[in-house]
Amino acid sequence: MGDFSLQINEDQLSIQKWVHEFAEKVIRPAASEWDEREETPWPIIQEAAKIGLYSFDFIANGYADQTGLTLALVNEEMAWGDAGINLAVFGSILAVVGIMSNGTNEQIGEWVPQCFGTPDKPQLAAFAVSEPDAGSDVSSLRTKAVYDAASDTWTLDGTKTWITNGGIADVHVVVASVDSSLGARGQASFVIGPGTAGLSQGQKFKKLGIRASHTAEVVLDNCKVPGSALLGGKEALDERLARAREGKKSQTQAAMATFEASRPMVGAQALGIARAAYEFALDYAKQRSQFGRPIIENQSIAFKLADMAVKIDASRLLVHRAAWMAANKIPFDAAQGSMSKLYAGETAVKVTEEAIQILGGYGYVREYPVQRWYRDAKIYTIFEGTSEIQRLIIARAISKVHIR
Ligand SMILES: Cc1cc2nc3c(=O)[nH]c(=O)nc-3n(C[C@H](O)[C@H](O)[C@H](O)COP(=O)(O)OP(=O)(O)OC[C@H]3O[C@@H](n4cnc5c(N)ncnc54)[C@H](O)[C@@H]3O)c2cc1C
Repeated sequence: MGDFSLQINEDQLSIQKWVHEFAEKVIRPAASEWDEREETPWPIIQEAAKIGLYSFDFIANGYADQTGLTLALVNEEMAWGDAGINLAVFGSILAVVGIMSNGTNEQIGEWVPQCFGTPDKPQLAAFAVSEPDAGSDVSSLRTKAVYDAASDTWTLDGTKTWITNGGIADVHVVVASVDSSLGARGQASFVIGPGTAGLSQGQKFKKLGIRASHTAEVVLDNCKVPGSALLGGKEALDERLARAREGKKSQTQAAMATFEASRPMVGAQALGIARAAYEFALDYAKQRSQFGRPIIENQSIAFKLADMAVKIDASRLLVHRAAWMAANKIPFDAAQGSMSKLYAGETAVKVTEEAIQILGGYGYVREYPVQRWYRDAKIYTIFEGTSEIQRLIIARAISKVHIR
């Protein structure tokens, strides 16, 4: 097990610098354009793939880092550049984590590289859990997967909604119910490859923020996939279902395992947005004069900046601790992953709102980036578990009471 340290090592420092440069020179200058266009920024994904940033090797090395900090630093820097473009580039990672945490070694070897494609032809992946009637309550999924033993085929039917990269991804990881009487314990993940008949994109959503990231419905209509598409394999599923039917304890269910592992990284993205807004507001407050002095000389402005700095630092500490725990497979016994996502997400909303206040009217207009950071930040209290759900998870973990 790697020791927890706040010290960023030489390798991490050079990766941080490299990603920061990409964020500063490639992402930031393009952020406003892609926000307005509300389209997937393919040229930037291609650029990230060309330099090896969007690649299986880079992410695999990041996950292999025992301190857990490398990918937290990468996510922070990328979201500092722009959260929407970051999600367009790295939105596939949730599906990658879904495959890595639920798949067999063979499935991981087959599918994870396809989530990335090649530097010349990058590909995307999507992780599809949410449905119109099953958002926070993932136990009530209606998408069904039915097995036909004679043809060793699964047939999936249902509609997924709010799916990042939904319909434009080459690889979709879909969580479906195989036995609805078992609720969340009767669910399994399936990997659906490119061009599979019966999978199509439904409505594409127009959003408040992170508009460079594609969000859409995924419709599964008589979508047939081979037995090998079931992540973890049929034998493991049958054992798991048998245990659930006998009322025995199970390991964490498929969707939850994925979200738990990714929460610190989502927190790191929120942290990147907060830092961007804080840095901008700090510079602005030193330059902007009213009543014959820089506005930062007013305590009401300086104290806001002080509070912003404290919240950002506290977020980073929570994110880095959770990232280190996840990398070392230390159970989140006090829901430390949720703590990091909750705190960093709410910090991003608060800090970006205060940054607008510090800029006054300039904070409210689209010539300045602060309004975009404010719009982008809000999603961090909603997706990958809302703030209320994070509080529920934390409250249950610390109390051992089944709080509703
Ligand atoms: C831009 C975007 C991208 C997304 N990407 C993906 C993706 O790639 N894959 C995917 O599967 N999903 C994705 N989602 C879905 C996202 O995870 C859900 O929107 C989120 O989980 C909330 O579900 P919901 O929208 O149905 O809200 P609901 O669950 O209906 O919640 C509505 C409100 O009720 C509160 N609430 C619900 N239950 C409780 C409770 N028990 N206690 C207290 N409060 C409660 C919630 O906190 C919230 O405030 C994305 C969503 C968005 C907007």
